[in-house]
Amino acid sequence: MTSAKEKLNTLAERDRKTIWHQISSYNETKRPMVVQKGEGAWITDHEGNRYLDGMSGLWCVNVGYGREELADAAAEQMKKLAYVPMTQSHEPAIRLAEKLNELLEGEYKIFYSNSGSDANEVAFKLARQYHQQNDEPSRFKFISRYRAYHGSSMGALSATGQALRKYKYEPLVPGFLHIAPPDNYRRPAGQSVEDYNVKCALEFEEKIIWEQKETIAGIIMEPLITGGGVLIPHPVYVKKVQEICRRHGVLLIIDEVICGFGRTGRVFGHQHFGIKPDIITMAKGLTSAYLPLSVTAIRKDIYDRFDSEEENSHFRHVNTFGGNPSACAVALKNLEIIERENLVDRSAQLGERLLKELVDLREHPHVGDIRGLGFLLGIELVENKESKEPASNERMAAIVGACKEIGLIIGKNGDTVAGFNNVLTVSPPLSCTDEDVDFIIAVLKKVFNEIK
Ligand code: PMP
Repeated sequence: MTSAKEKLNTLAERDRKTIWHQISSYNETKRPMVVQKGEGAWITDHEGNRYLDGMSGLWCVNVGYGREELADAAAEQMKKLAYVPMTQSHEPAIRLAEKLNELLEGEYKIFYSNSGSDANEVAFKLARQYHQQNDEPSRFKFISRYRAYHGSSMGALSATGQALRKYKYEPLVPGFLHIAPPDNYRRPAGQSVEDYNVKCALEFEEKIIWEQKETIAGIIMEPLITGGGVLIPHPVYVKKVQEICRRHGVLLIIDEVICGFGRTGRVFGHQHFGIKPDIITMAKGLTSAYLPLSVTAIRKDIYDRFDSEEENSHFRHVNTFGGNPSACAVALKNLEIIERENLVDRSAQLGERLLKELVDLREHPHVGDIRGLGFLLGIELVENKESKEPASNERMAAIVGACKEIGLIIGKNGDTVAGFNNVLTVSPPLSCTDEDVDFIIAVLKKVFNEIK
């Protein structure tokens, strides 16, 4: 008879034989972590080890694990009506579209898909077709930023500005251009943050002009770069980008896949900056990842170019699972929980507390910068504070590993080999208790104290 523990251990063996893990190195897949249970901000692996999930999975489990209400919402809907293609409609999809319009504080048409990458693909296709129908067929190019991540499918990967994720899969989709994002920590000496951000925004305008503005369909950006190192712009940057887009007839696509649904202390990240994007993409926190669902929200007046009797004017895009009824029901319940538990304000408060209590880490010889917005924190590590030479991959791994040893999962962005600055990320469920936050602070302080 095999004991329960032995049986669970064989799960790791079976995993090693059969599963090809996402973006994991050989060493990581040698020791797969088989997660068995989640409760609040905590997950438990197959050996019974508990970890506070300081990355909310992949920045997505905003309301935390173990929400029976979400399971019930999915089950009830599944029993009543499991599926409707979105060539037709159903009540949860309609109610969710109404709710999203309320949260977006504007009039948007809601297009459903399954993932963040899907939502961005929809945005690109829509933008190209919009310009064709607007008698500007030469507008097909998109500009995005280096260091940004926009997804793994060919279009979304083309918009992504991280060469390391791309170079083995080239050639990618033509027509995707990149410029540098504002990186306030590394701005030129003697320049104020505001002046530097204005200059960075003007680089968008220069790119548009040099490329011939009649060829530019849209700009895609996150409100702040999350996965590329937590780069938080000065508000003047975002406002200027919107102004530039308007001036040149370029659509502004805002990727809220991570920033949406409270992560930054507002319902949507762009709401910090007082802008009204033309297209907004969202996923992850929309359902807190209990089921897959994503959305591309299109400003109503852009949609109107598609609202015609002309046979050739409709948007020829279909995906089988987008707008799945149970996923929409879960999203509605998830948004209800976020509101009922005040998780957007809580994200702002917890994030502020985290930053305040960890500010002393700046004294550490390898902490170059700590920054955050809402419950999304970045700790940039350097080898040398004077030269700001990025920390080695080994230094990053040592910190991440030491946190995990004592029960805290944190993330890391970057790769020194690829010349990409190294930033640790902390982005826990917005539902963390005060004790959870105490724990995160205690672990980080201990680890940075011990590893110099
Ligand atoms: N946009 C951003 C900003 C993301 O962080 C991600 C995923 N991390 C995506 C798009 C792609 O989402 P998905 O993995 O659901 O395709």
